[in-house]
This record gives sequence, structure tokens and C-alpha cells, in this order.
Amino acid sequence: MSKEKGSLSIHSENIFPIIKKWLYSDHDIFIRELISNACDAITKVKRLNSLGEADLGEETAFQVKVVLNKTDKTLKFIDNGIGMTDEEVKKYINQIAFSGAEEFLKAYKDKGDVEQIIGHFGLGFYSAFMVASTVEIDTLSFKPDANAVKWQCDGGTEFEMEEGTRTTRGTEITLHLGEDGKDFLSEYTLKTTIEKYCSFMPYPIYFEVADAEAKKDEEGNIIVEEPKALNEVSPLYLKQPSCCTDEEYKEFYKKTFRDFQEPLFWIHLNMDYPFNLKGILYFPKLKTGFDTMEGSIKLYNSQVFVADNIKEVIPEFLLLLKGVIDCPDLPLNVSRSFLQNDGFTKKISDYITKKVADKLNSLFKTDRESFQKFWGDINPFIKYGILRDDKFYQKVEGIVLYKTIDGEYLTMEAYLEKHGEKLDKQIYYVSDLQQQAQYINMMKEHGVEAIVLDHMIDPPFISHIESKKDDIKFKRVDSKIADLMKDLEENADEETSKKQTEAVTNVFKKALKKEDCTIQLENLKSEDVAGMLIQSEENRRMQEMMKQYGMGGLN
Ligand code: ADP
Ligand code: MG
Repeated sequence: MSKEKGSLSIHSENIFPIIKKWLYSDHDIFIRELISNACDAITKVKRLNSLGEADLGEETAFQVKVVLNKTDKTLKFIDNGIGMTDEEVKKYINQIAFSGAEEFLKAYKDKGDVEQIIGHFGLGFYSAFMVASTVEIDTLSFKPDANAVKWQCDGGTEFEMEEGTRTTRGTEITLHLGEDGKDFLSEYTLKTTIEKYCSFMPYPIYFEVADAEAKKDEEGNIIVEEPKALNEVSPLYLKQPSCCTDEEYKEFYKKTFRDFQEPLFWIHLNMDYPFNLKGILYFPKLKTGFDTMEGSIKLYNSQVFVADNIKEVIPEFLLLLKGVIDCPDLPLNVSRSFLQNDGFTKKISDYITKKVADKLNSLFKTDRESFQKFWGDINPFIKYGILRDDKFYQKVEGIVLYKTIDGEYLTMEAYLEKHGEKLDKQIYYVSDLQQQAQYINMMKEHGVEAIVLDHMIDPPFISHIESKKDDIKFKRVDSKIADLMKDLEENADEETSKKQTEAVTNVFKKALKKEDCTIQLENLKSEDVAGMLIQSEENRRMQEMMKQYGMGGLN
């Protein structure tokens, strides 16, 4: 056979089912795609207007309307954007994956700021077929001599195009909702989906139910409600940090995260170079009664919601915070919920980590009082970060606080300065104030200031610190504390001690019904305490670890 060359062709019969089934994991994404197309269309016409290439006169009321008609089972997306001529419909709609946004960006890239344009992949429009059996487009271009166009397609490979009836500039997309789209006949579902994806989109989005029964007052008069946009067109995070007040930050937090509690503090991220990133990260209060922090970081791309808690961009430990991050340069793939694996995301992630560490350090330096006050809420987060990210550890190790049983907050350095010599760099800690009360009293008698480490993050945290700092050793107050209690003046008589040990060991052997148990008696120096059980730190930690992994305790 002779050598042949050619280009692969894509048949739309094959690609349609793929788009419908696989491209978008979530059905509700068509809402994001159609509304973002509408916003793009407005941005484009505004841009042309400001370049003198379109004449919009005094018109400023740009908006997107979503209209549900339950009787007809239709959902409309209406904008007063750029519109399309018949040529454009052929080019941008009939040729699947020929993205008009990309072409527009190329053509106008050098003529100012068109970054706001959301589309990139030329497939968004077709996501409508995930829920619709038939899709119609009625559009009228801004061009003075343009004719209105009507386009219709039932999800097969044929479309119909004819002269349309639209008389005002813009586009109306009508979805005839099919079996797959019946969820979207619910006002509630629609509203919450619009809020999920479009909360910060740049033009007001209104939602209406066309066949809703009119609301009437007691006398039967129709109540006309002022339409209210579902979104916030210029969200706080896009503003300059110096122009935002504390009240605004708190308000934005409450609204975005539906959290009635106030955040502790926040970090406003605002970066233009070497990449564009804006956002606000909030440190939430720990929920009372819960040990764990439960955060949520919402990722946006040019004011369009992409997804929650994306691990590629946000370091895992930062997911304990609450925040919004908008990065227009994100290397998103076609489905937009997935990121392309790219060194760029690592840079974003490092930048965010650094900003968080910087903020914590500056708070520690400039407002130690607040830092201490917040410590109870933020320490699990900081410790988790230390465990997860060595760079973060290096940046914050000096500001980790240890709370003593007397309620003082000391850094490791300060603690060692105070007690290091006496304790030989051993740090005594309490993990349960009630259970270990007896031991605490004894510590106090000996003038030792134990620290409180009672969060579930603390056991792995202290092991980590020990692995980083060779000479530091953490010991729970009920571990082998003989070193500390040893009274050099009084050397117990060896013979008596041996006998006592044997006797006590026998008691334990009988009680535990075990032959192989090792008991060691320590000479306790305390006036109030007659005797206590202690266990070596290593032994206990090992047991705890085994328990955690479901392996049962050691004998
Ligand atoms: P993308 O947005 O990635 O370009 P889409 O499939 O979402 O791809 O849309 C394809 C093209 O169709 C757009 O680039 C645009 O040129 C055109 N288009 C879609 N919706 C509208 C609309 N509401 N108004 C004007 N043009 C539109
Ligand atoms: Mg699009």
C-alpha cells in the first residue's frame, strides 16, 4: 500500500454523545456555561462601544435574565450583549469547538483589557444538550444592518436556521427541558445553581418564573416586587485591600459562607505579577463542641465559580480555612472543573502558603495579644500546616505557642529559657486536665510548669517537632518522670527497693493474668500523693498509634 497522509476528521454524530455524557461531570454546569456566554457577549459589546466600533448610545442597563416556564418546560437565557449575525451563528455555533471567545481575544488582545472574557474552549454552549431535547437561539447582532437569526437543533446532527423575529440587540437561548433536565423545572434548584456558579459574575443576573401566579395582598391587589439580582457584580475580593473596611470583610464572609459567626481575621490576596490572583482567606472560629476545622475554599476563574477545595491549587492544610480565590490564569481543561497538571498551580499554591505564613508572623509581631487570643482556634490549623508543608514549618516554627497550665502562652524558645536547664530540654505536657490532675499537682509541687496539648493534632505534632529538633523531648506528665522527681539526697536502699519491686510485680501479674509484665518502682517524692501509675512515653505513644490504626493495644 502506498503511503498516505491526511487529517483526522471528527464526525459530530460521534462527538455529541461524548459531550453529553463525559465532558461535564455535573449536569448543572450548563447554567454556568450559558450565563458566562451571556456575560461574555455583554463584555464584547461594551468593549466595541468603548473602541467606537459599536454605538450603544446611552444604554447602560446590561443584564442577563433567566426565565423559567414550568407549563412549557422551557428555560430561557436572555442577554443584551453583542448578538450574532447569521454568519456568526454558522461559524461559532455550527462548528463545534470553534471558540469565538478565543478568536475575539486574539483579535482584541492588544486593544486593552479583555481579560474578563470567560469562554475558552468552544464547547460550553453544547452543554445545553445535557438537559435539553431541543435548543433554540434567537439573536440580533449589534451591527446596524444585521438581520435577526433563529437557529434550532434537537441534539442530533441537523440544525435549522432561518430569519428570526428578535427586534432588540442580544441573544435569547431557549432550552426545551427533556427528561434529563426535569430537575431544573424547580425554582429552588435553579436559584441555588445560579448562586453556586454565578455569585460574582460581572453583570446582574435576574431570575423569573414566567407562569408564576401573581402575588396578591389581602385586598387582592397584585404585589409588584422589585427584581433583585442574584449575584454581586463587583465582589469585595476584587477591590483594593486599602479600600475595604473590616465591616465589609465580615459581611462578605457571612454572605459567602453562610456562617453567622464572625471570622477571626483574614488575608486579602491581591497579586498582578507574575500571575493574576485575587481573593480573601478567612480564619474561622472553631465550632464549639467540635475538635475539627471544616473549611471551604471556593475557586473562581474570572468571577466564574470553578469548584470547591481543589487540592492542586490550594495546599491541603489551607482547606481548613474559608475563602475565595480567583485566578484568571488557571490552566483549566475543557470541563473547567479539572486542572491541567501544570507547574503553574504549584506556584500559586506556594504563593498562598507564603502569604498565610507572612500574615501569621506579622500578627504575632504586631499584635501578640490578639494572636494569643486566637491561638485556641488557629493552633490546629498551624500545626496541621507544619505537619504537611516543610516550607510552612520553617516560616512559622518560631511563632508556635505553648499554653502552660497556668494559662501563660510561651514560644518554645521562651519556655526553654525559663525551664530548659532544669528540665534538660524535656517539655512536660498534659493531654487531659481532669484525668491527669493528680500528676499536675505533683508537677506543681516540684515547680514544673507543664503545657497543655489536648487537641487530636497534638500527638503527631509533637512527634514531628521531636524529629525536627534532636534535643527536644516531650513527656506527658504521667510518663516516666523519675528523672524529674529524683531526689539526689535520698538514695533508696537498693535491697529494699528490689523486694518492693518484686512484690508489686506479683500483684500486677496476678491482676493482669500475665507472666511477662515488667514493673518498675520509682521513688516518688511527694507529700500529697501516695502512689501513682506511670507508663513510659514511648510505650504509650506506640499504643495510641496502634489503637488509631485498629491494631489493638500492646500488652
Ligand atoms: P466559548 O464560550 O468557549 O467560546 P461556547 O460554546 O460557550 O464556547 O460558545 C461558542 C461561541 O458562540 C462563543 O464564543 C460566542 O461567539 C457564541 N455565543 C454563544 N453564546 C452567545 C451569546 N449569548 N451571545 C453572543 N454570542 C454567543
Ligand atoms: Mg462559553
